[in-house]
Order: sequence, then C-alpha cells, then structure tokens
Amino acid sequence: MYEGAIQDLIDELGRLPGVGPKSAQRIAFHVLSADPADVNRLATALRKVKELVRFCTTCFNVAEAEQCRVCRDPRRTNEVLCVVEEPKDVVAIERTGEFRGRYHVLGGAINPLEGVGPDNLRVRELLMRLGTGEVQELILATDPNTEGEATATYLGLLVKPMGIAVTRLASGLPVGGDLEYADEITLGRAFEGRRAI
Ligand SMILES: [Zn+2]
Repeated sequence: MYEGAIQDLIDELGRLPGVGPKSAQRIAFHVLSADPADVNRLATALRKVKELVRFCTTCFNVAEAEQCRVCRDPRRTNEVLCVVEEPKDVVAIERTGEFRGRYHVLGGAINPLEGVGPDNLRVRELLMRLGTGEVQELILATDPNTEGEATATYLGLLVKPMGIAVTRLASGLPVGGDLEYADEITLGRAFEGRRAI
C-alpha cells in the first residue's frame, strides 16, 4: 500500500486491540502531520511503560515499585481481599470508593476452550496469601460472564473449607459483560449487596 516507515507504522498500529485497518491508517497519518514534540512524548510513553511498569509482587496489580499503591497503603485493611481478573478491574472498583481492603489479580479467568485452567492463573499465590490467616472475607469480583462465574465457583469451593467467608458481587451488573464497563453506581451497589456463596 504505502512504502517504508508509514506502512510499518500502519502495520504495527493495526496489531493493537480494537484498532482496525482504517483507524491504523488514520492514526499513522495523524502522527505524520503532528508536532515532533508530541510524537516524541508518545514514543517516550510507549518505551517507559515497558521499562518502568511491572507487576506488584503481592497482588499482581500493575506497579512501578516492588508493591503497588494499594498494597503499600497502610490505611487499608488486610482482612478483606477482593479477587479480580485484570488490573483494569482494580481501577474500576477503586473508582466506586466502596472498598478499603486489598486485591488479588488473577491474570484472567478459567476458560477451558482457550486452554486456560487454574494453573495458568495466580491461584497458587492466592492460596498462599490466604494461608497467613489474616483474611476474614474473600470477595470474588470476577466478570459476570461464563468464564468469570466458573472461576468464582472454582475458587469458592477451594476457599470455603479454609473457614474464610466467601462473597460474590450482587446482581445488577450487566450479565455477560466486563466489570470495567459497569458504571460506578452500579458497581458500588453490587459491592454493598455482595452475598455469601
Ligand atoms: Zn499490590
């Protein structure tokens, strides 16, 4: 189509999630006509995210230090642990302002069709955290879709014998959806109304 660098950029952009060929072309030509300082800032941001961002060694949220901001906060309680699929779910729940406990990011959900089982998620690390005896309640805030429900059921069966209260977010969340797309009020209510499973 185009030659050299502009086509390389279109190809790279087109590999990003949610960016179709037309968007890739539009962004590439925007970059071409943009101010060099703006393009440099973008390039630096892309490089820095790979250099600086890593996963929290405790909860596997994104972090720029050994531990993420939530794990470093001494004002939060260790007695309630909220299990989510991805770091973006931590952001969604933090936005509600309803939760003052800690998180555990699984890194996905059980999905047999795609070959994702408990061993591919951070389940072992979760059980190790629960083993210290500090956690009184485990909130399963996986997505309200088939994979998320399967993951919550699996974890519930695993954790309940440990004598820890296990709760699931209340309904009201869009079924089949992604936690991150729920608005703050709906997600906040789902949190308040969580039920034992
Ligand atoms: Zn953390």
